[in-house]
Amino acid sequence: MNSSLIGKIEKAKRYAQEPERVQVRKLEVTFRGSHDVHRVSFDQGRWQCSCNFFALSGICSHTMAMQRMLGVMLPTESEEKAAATSDSGR
Ligand SMILES: [Zn+2]
Repeated sequence: MNSSLIGKIEKAKRYAQEPERVQVRKLEVTFRGSHDVHRVSFDQGRWQCSCNFFALSGICSHTMAMQRMLGVMLPTESEEKAAATSDSGR
């Protein structure tokens, strides 16, 4: 393994300890609930879930669990806007 790759791996280990560097923009998962498997997605700041409770309430245990798992990696509303406007510059 060459030395520059070793440096990258070291950096990756440090980054992995700093989840606040990462903002989730889009996500789609399957969620194995107690009774059924659900599809949960996050896009442009909005959650979706295929379960019945979400259809009625717009929120459910699956989306709330995902919010807890992702924690600081979920963008706040202002970060969403900043990311949207800086897209063209990157
Ligand atoms: Zn759900």
